[in-house]
Formats: sequence, structure tokens, C-alpha cells
Amino acid sequence: MSELVHQRVLEHCKRLRLGAVAARLDNLLDEATRGQMTYLDLLDLAFRTEAESKLDRRVRMGIQIAHFPVIKTLDGFDYSAQPSIDQGLMRELSTGRFVANGHNVLLFGPPGVGKTHLAIALGRAVIQAGYTVLFVTATELLAALDRAQSEGRLPDKLAHYAKPKLLIIDELGYLPFDKKASHLLFQLVVRRYERTSTMITTNQPVTQWGTVFGDEMMAAAMLDRLLHHSYAVTIQGESYRMREKRKSGLWKPPEPTTPK
Ligand code: ADP
Ligand code: MG
Repeated sequence: MSELVHQRVLEHCKRLRLGAVAARLDNLLDEATRGQMTYLDLLDLAFRTEAESKLDRRVRMGIQIAHFPVIKTLDGFDYSAQPSIDQGLMRELSTGRFVANGHNVLLFGPPGVGKTHLAIALGRAVIQAGYTVLFVTATELLAALDRAQSEGRLPDKLAHYAKPKLLIIDELGYLPFDKKASHLLFQLVVRRYERTSTMITTNQPVTQWGTVFGDEMMAAAMLDRLLHHSYAVTIQGESYRMREKRKSGLWKPPEPTTPK
């Protein structure tokens, strides 16, 4: 009889998509007996097992879909190396609330100060908070839009990049854009404006964006939309890699030259 019930429970688990409970059914029952659990405790444990497994799966899939180039976490970020960063703001951003509100994040700073690290780490936190994320470098993004346009598939490609709740565009401004590329990016920014969040890392202060985009007017219009409802994080200081090298004695900063 109990074998029949056991079988039925497994079948119901399958139909209700409670895969984790099904996989751990015997363990859960053993644990309940050993721990002299109440019925409520057992239900609590079974539902928690399922909920945690579903969350874990969703986060793993979300991270795969996001296409992060490497694994970086907020725990792995050494704030003491970058005292210009407001840790409270990072904690706030990691809750994902800015995505719920359709706000943007701009990370400014010279090379090596941890902009990409923070963008990936925040992206992971946003996935954990339940949102879809896509990571792309500015160069990749522009190449993809440009290719789509020449193949007559631009609307599809724009829709693809407009969809994620958070789009991370990494390394904007390392290479200047031509007017056509700038216009494609502008179309995307307009599509996402006030509906979805965009996070941008850049080594260029906003005063240089006119030069980066080869068009002052378009740069101003783009910045207007990006900066409206946004958090701007400016990271100052030395490249983290250089700092590590200097600390280990592998690299010495050049001696200041005395003017003759
Ligand atoms: P950026 O995007 O600003 O050029 P990255 O995020 O690529 O810089 O950082 C360069 C390398 O240094 C990466 O491996 C990154 O993980 C590491 N790094 C930078 N800043 C920190 C930090 N404060 N704590 C830990 N690692 C850091
Ligand atoms: Mg970077």
C-alpha cells in the first residue's frame, strides 16, 4: 500500500514539476523521521527544497543567457583598493531595485579600475533578484547591429537588445564610432529609455562623448536619455593590476623627471 502511495507521490511531483522533491523524497522522509518533524515542518522542508532548487536553476540559466565573459562577484571586489566607490550604493544596486524602476547605471573611470568587474558582479546580483540580463561589449553590439542592418534584419536585432531588463554595454568609448554606428546605438537607447535599464562602462567622461560618437547633437540626445533616472559611479585611482604589480615589486612607477 505504502509503495503505491510512494509511487503516486512521485507521479504527482512529476506532474507538478517538483523535481527536487521527487529526487530527494526518500531523504526528506528519512530526515523527517530522524528529526521527529511535525507535518508542517516536513512540508516546510519539502517546499524549501523545491524553491531553492528552482531559484538555483533559474540563476544558473540566467547567468548562461547573460553571456558574461568571466565570473566576477561583489564578494571578490576589494573596496579598500578603490576607496572612491560608495559601497552603500553598490549594495543598493545589487538589490536590483534600479532595474525594477528602469533606471540606468554609468560606470566611469580609467582602464583597470574595476568597471567591468563591478558590471558583471552587479549583473549577477540582478539575475539573482529575478531579472534578465545581457552583457555585450560596445564593439560587439555595434558590429551586430551593423551586420543586421546590412542584412535587412535590424528590427529583429534591435528587439533582441531591447528585451533584457538590464543590458550591460561594456567598454564604450575605447574605440570611436562612425556616425552610422552612433545612430544605431541611439536607436537602441531610445527603445530602452524608461522601460528597461542600461548599464554602461566607459573610460570617457561625458564631455568627450561628442568626440566618441562623432556627433555632438546625437551624443547630447543619447546622454540626455541615459542620464535621466541614472546612477553615475566615477571610479578614480590606479589600475588594480598595476597596483598589485607595484605592491609585489614587479613594477615601479617612473621617477618624476626634473625639468631642465
Ligand atoms: P576596467 O573594466 O575598469 O578596465 P576590470 O574590471 O577589467 O577594469 O579590472 C581589471 C582586473 O582587475 C580584473 O581582473 C578585475 O577583476 C581586477 N580588479 C579591478 N579592481 C579590483 C578590485 N577593487 N578588487 C578586486 N579585483 C579588481
Ligand atoms: Mg573593462
